[in-house]
Amino acid sequence: MKFTVNGLCTGHARCFELADDVYELDDNGYNVDINRTVDVAPGQEASAVLGAHSCPERAIEIEE
Ligand code: SF4
Repeated sequence: MKFTVNGLCTGHARCFELADDVYELDDNGYNVDINRTVDVAPGQEASAVLGAHSCPERAIEIEE
């Protein structure tokens, strides 16, 4: 599984609040992986999906 954070991220920080094992924020509360595709570590798939679904901007795309 991979996730991609697109340019819609506006720094709500919901992804980090619900899945801090997968998502990281910068000092301004934006996801550090904007415009990057990242491999999800084994065992963290459910957390990655939860965080993606929590994003009000739909900025996180999950790829199986
Ligand atoms: S990816 Fe979504 S939930 Fe995470 S910081 Fe950006 S806007 Fe907020």
